[in-house]
Amino acid sequence: MVLKGASWRPALFPALFGILRHPRHGVTLFDTGYSARFQRATEPFPQRLYRWLTPVRVALGDSAAEQLLRAGIAPESVARIVLSHFHADHIAGARDFPNARFVASRAAWDAVRGRGTIRSTALGFLPRLLPDDFEARATLLEAYEFRTPGIGQFETSHDLFGDGSVRLIPLPRHARGQLGWLAQTAGRRRFLISRHTVTSHIKNAYRKLDVHTAAAAVFRAMNQGLLGKRAIRP
Ligand SMILES: [Zn+2]
Repeated sequence: MVLKGASWRPALFPALFGILRHPRHGVTLFDTGYSARFQRATEPFPQRLYRWLTPVRVALGDSAAEQLLRAGIAPESVARIVLSHFHADHIAGARDFPNARFVASRAAWDAVRGRGTIRSTALGFLPRLLPDDFEARATLLEAYEFRTPGIGQFETSHDLFGDGSVRLIPLPRHARGQLGWLAQTAGRRRFLISRHTVTSHIKNAYRKLDVHTAAAAVFRAMNQGLLGKRAIRP
């Protein structure tokens, strides 16, 4: 979590990841959540400031890889990981998936790559959370590759598999180059964006939907077909 202008009040932000099994393209993850590596990467200064600002609790068995193993999915079998952006709470599990290709936007990568330690930490990016061969394993989407329709106020998307099943949607404002994911599975639509992105978009969403409460926003969004019932669960 990295919130601009956030007040000094404790808040709980679960770091989530998503999983999709595609009949032809295998297992794809959306982000990787936290892992014990976050603790190790934030031992030294100045990275330790990150942990101090956003204390993280990672219990044994909480990492994406461990959760997948419990569901019978070997981390080695994960074919692809879409990284919504490069804040540490989204990439901390990246090293646990040795065979995965990474997909992210070129804009998001360019916003964090090659900076010094202090600058990286200030950007919420801890480079050692990524595998050493990250760039060789990454497909970085250029702006012109977002040419299929988006959803609602988000006008464009990138069709990940070329079959309309998963569309990656640029979500400006929270982090440069950030992506959301719209999945179309048997008769169901799921829109995955990170929790804190919702926070930074919430005022805008209320305005667009012309409502003032979360309940009214959900009701109106469902009426407009923008949300499935499951999408509103935290
Ligand atoms: Zn973030």
